[in-house]
Amino acid sequence: MAESVRVLLTEEEVDKRIKELGEAISRDYQGETVHLVCVLKGGVFFMCELAKRITIPVTMDFMSASSYGSSTKSSGVVKIVKDLDEPLKDRHVIVVEDIVDSGRTLSYLLKMLGDRGPASIKLCTLLDKPERRVTDVKVDYTGFEIPDEFVVGYGLDYDQRYRNLPYIGVVEFN
Ligand code: 5GP
Repeated sequence: MAESVRVLLTEEEVDKRIKELGEAISRDYQGETVHLVCVLKGGVFFMCELAKRITIPVTMDFMSASSYGSSTKSSGVVKIVKDLDEPLKDRHVIVVEDIVDSGRTLSYLLKMLGDRGPASIKLCTLLDKPERRVTDVKVDYTGFEIPDEFVVGYGLDYDQRYRNLPYIGVVEFN
Protein backbone atom coordinates (compact mmCIF):
# COMPACT_ATOMS: atom_id res chain seq x y z
CA MET A 1 0.00 0.00 0.00
CA ALA A 2 1.44 3.43 -0.93
CA GLU A 3 1.72 6.07 1.78
CA SER A 4 1.79 9.82 1.52
CA VAL A 5 1.88 12.58 4.11
CA ARG A 6 -0.62 15.43 4.10
CA VAL A 7 0.63 18.61 5.78
CA LEU A 8 -1.39 19.59 8.85
CA LEU A 9 0.91 22.26 10.31
CA THR A 10 3.65 23.84 8.22
CA GLU A 11 7.23 24.31 9.37
CA GLU A 12 6.62 28.09 9.63
CA GLU A 13 3.50 27.62 11.80
CA VAL A 14 5.30 25.20 14.13
CA ASP A 15 8.40 27.41 14.45
CA LYS A 16 6.31 30.51 15.15
CA ARG A 17 4.33 28.75 17.86
CA ILE A 18 7.46 27.31 19.53
CA LYS A 19 8.92 30.81 19.66
CA GLU A 20 5.75 32.01 21.42
CA LEU A 21 5.93 29.13 23.92
CA GLY A 22 9.58 29.93 24.65
CA GLU A 23 8.66 33.55 25.29
CA ALA A 24 5.79 32.56 27.60
CA ILE A 25 8.02 30.19 29.61
CA SER A 26 10.78 32.84 29.87
CA ARG A 27 8.22 35.33 31.23
CA ASP A 28 6.57 32.89 33.66
CA TYR A 29 9.87 31.68 35.19
CA GLN A 30 11.69 35.03 35.26
CA GLY A 31 14.55 34.88 37.80
CA GLU A 32 14.54 31.06 37.94
CA THR A 33 16.28 28.20 36.12
CA VAL A 34 13.94 25.85 34.29
CA HIS A 35 14.77 22.16 34.11
CA LEU A 36 13.41 20.69 30.90
CA VAL A 37 12.64 16.99 30.99
CA CYS A 38 12.40 15.52 27.53
CA VAL A 39 10.37 12.41 26.94
CA LEU A 40 12.24 10.53 24.20
CA LYS A 41 12.14 9.92 21.40
CA GLY A 42 9.24 11.99 20.17
CA GLY A 43 9.85 15.05 22.37
CA VAL A 44 13.45 15.64 21.36
CA PHE A 45 12.94 17.80 18.26
CA PHE A 46 10.43 19.97 20.07
CA MET A 47 12.59 20.31 23.18
CA CYS A 48 15.67 21.38 21.24
CA GLU A 49 13.75 24.08 19.38
CA LEU A 50 11.93 25.19 22.54
CA ALA A 51 15.15 25.39 24.58
CA LYS A 52 16.65 27.70 21.94
CA ARG A 53 13.71 30.07 22.37
CA ILE A 54 13.94 30.30 26.17
CA THR A 55 15.89 33.33 27.33
CA ILE A 56 16.33 32.42 31.04
CA PRO A 57 18.78 29.74 32.32
CA VAL A 58 17.87 26.22 31.18
CA THR A 59 19.09 22.78 32.21
CA MET A 60 17.85 19.55 30.66
CA ASP A 61 17.55 15.85 31.14
CA PHE A 62 16.09 12.99 29.14
CA MET A 63 13.94 10.00 29.84
CA SER A 64 12.36 7.38 27.71
CA ALA A 65 9.02 5.75 28.35
CA SER A 66 7.11 3.52 26.05
CA SER A 67 3.40 2.93 25.89
CA TYR A 68 3.22 2.26 22.17
CA GLY A 69 4.48 -0.62 20.09
CA SER A 70 4.23 -0.06 16.40
CA SER A 71 0.45 0.19 16.61
CA THR A 72 -1.42 3.47 16.76
CA LYS A 73 -3.11 3.33 20.13
CA SER A 74 -1.97 3.52 23.73
CA SER A 75 -1.75 0.23 25.60
CA GLY A 76 -2.07 2.03 28.93
CA VAL A 77 1.05 0.27 30.16
CA VAL A 78 3.98 2.66 30.67
CA LYS A 79 7.46 1.25 30.80
CA ILE A 80 10.43 3.43 31.83
CA VAL A 81 13.06 2.48 29.30
CA LYS A 82 15.58 5.12 30.40
CA ASP A 83 15.28 7.11 33.62
CA LEU A 84 16.59 10.63 34.23
CA ASP A 85 20.28 11.09 35.06
CA GLU A 86 19.75 13.75 37.73
CA PRO A 87 17.43 14.26 40.73
CA LEU A 88 14.50 16.69 40.40
CA LYS A 89 14.54 17.86 44.01
CA ASP A 90 13.84 21.61 44.35
CA ARG A 91 13.98 22.17 40.59
CA HIS A 92 11.41 23.94 38.44
CA VAL A 93 10.60 21.09 36.10
CA ILE A 94 8.84 21.34 32.75
CA VAL A 95 8.08 17.99 31.15
CA VAL A 96 8.29 18.41 27.39
CA GLU A 97 6.21 16.03 25.29
CA ASP A 98 5.44 15.68 21.63
CA ILE A 99 1.75 14.87 22.01
CA VAL A 100 -0.89 14.20 24.63
CA ASP A 101 -3.42 11.72 23.33
CA SER A 102 -5.29 9.55 25.85
CA GLY A 103 -3.20 11.15 28.61
CA ARG A 104 -2.29 7.78 30.13
CA THR A 105 1.46 8.11 29.59
CA LEU A 106 1.63 11.63 30.97
CA SER A 107 -0.56 11.06 33.99
CA TYR A 108 1.71 8.18 34.99
CA LEU A 109 4.92 10.14 34.35
CA LEU A 110 3.78 13.33 36.06
CA LYS A 111 2.82 11.41 39.18
CA MET A 112 6.13 9.54 39.20
CA LEU A 113 8.23 12.69 38.66
CA GLY A 114 6.11 14.76 41.06
CA ASP A 115 6.98 12.28 43.82
CA ARG A 116 10.69 13.21 43.45
CA GLY A 117 10.24 16.56 45.22
CA PRO A 118 10.54 19.21 42.46
CA ALA A 119 9.89 22.85 43.46
CA SER A 120 7.24 22.82 40.70
CA ILE A 121 6.27 20.62 37.79
CA LYS A 122 4.47 21.66 34.62
CA LEU A 123 3.69 20.07 31.30
CA CYS A 124 4.44 21.50 27.89
CA THR A 125 3.25 19.64 24.80
CA LEU A 126 3.61 20.53 21.15
CA LEU A 127 0.34 18.82 20.23
CA ASP A 128 -2.81 17.97 22.12
CA LYS A 129 -5.73 15.82 21.01
CA PRO A 130 -8.29 16.78 23.69
CA GLU A 131 -11.05 14.63 22.13
CA ARG A 132 -9.05 11.51 22.86
CA ARG A 133 -8.46 12.09 26.57
CA VAL A 134 -9.37 9.26 28.94
CA THR A 135 -7.27 10.42 31.93
CA ASP A 136 -7.39 13.91 33.38
CA VAL A 137 -4.05 15.63 32.64
CA LYS A 138 -3.47 19.35 33.12
CA VAL A 139 -1.49 20.76 30.21
CA ASP A 140 0.20 24.06 31.11
CA TYR A 141 1.64 24.97 27.70
CA THR A 142 0.14 23.68 24.45
CA GLY A 143 1.48 24.28 20.97
CA PHE A 144 -1.59 23.23 19.02
CA GLU A 145 -4.84 21.42 19.64
CA ILE A 146 -5.37 19.03 16.74
CA PRO A 147 -8.19 16.74 15.62
CA ASP A 148 -8.19 13.01 16.22
CA GLU A 149 -5.83 12.00 13.43
CA PHE A 150 -2.57 10.04 13.59
CA VAL A 151 0.18 12.57 13.01
CA VAL A 152 3.87 12.31 12.19
CA GLY A 153 6.83 14.64 11.92
CA TYR A 154 8.73 16.89 14.31
CA GLY A 155 9.79 13.84 16.31
CA LEU A 156 6.60 11.82 15.89
CA ASP A 157 6.92 8.53 14.05
CA TYR A 158 4.95 5.93 12.22
CA ASP A 159 6.85 2.68 12.73
CA GLN A 160 9.99 4.74 13.53
CA ARG A 161 9.82 6.68 10.26
CA TYR A 162 8.95 10.34 9.54
CA ARG A 163 10.41 11.72 12.80
CA ASN A 164 12.70 13.98 10.77
CA LEU A 165 9.93 15.84 8.92
CA PRO A 166 10.21 19.54 9.81
CA TYR A 167 6.39 19.87 9.81
CA ILE A 168 3.41 17.98 11.23
CA GLY A 169 1.59 15.73 8.79
CA VAL A 170 -1.03 12.99 8.61
CA VAL A 171 -0.10 9.67 7.00
CA GLU A 172 -2.52 8.69 4.28
CA PHE A 173 -2.72 5.26 2.68
CA ASN A 174 -3.59 5.39 -0.99
P1 5GP B 1 -1.13 8.77 25.46
O1 5GP B 1 -0.65 7.97 26.61
O2 5GP B 1 -1.42 10.21 25.76
O3 5GP B 1 -2.30 8.09 24.78
O4 5GP B 1 -0.01 8.66 24.35
C1 5GP B 1 1.08 9.45 24.32
C2 5GP B 1 2.08 8.90 23.34
O5 5GP B 1 1.42 8.23 22.27
C3 5GP B 1 2.85 10.01 22.66
O6 5GP B 1 3.99 10.36 23.39
C4 5GP B 1 3.17 9.41 21.31
O7 5GP B 1 4.34 8.64 21.41
C5 5GP B 1 2.01 8.48 21.03
N1 5GP B 1 1.01 9.08 20.14
C6 5GP B 1 -0.23 9.51 20.46
N2 5GP B 1 -0.86 10.03 19.40
C7 5GP B 1 0.01 9.94 18.37
C8 5GP B 1 -0.04 10.36 16.99
O8 5GP B 1 -1.01 10.93 16.46
N3 5GP B 1 1.08 10.12 16.25
C9 5GP B 1 2.19 9.51 16.76
N4 5GP B 1 3.20 9.33 15.94
N5 5GP B 1 2.27 9.11 18.05
C10 5GP B 1 1.20 9.34 18.84
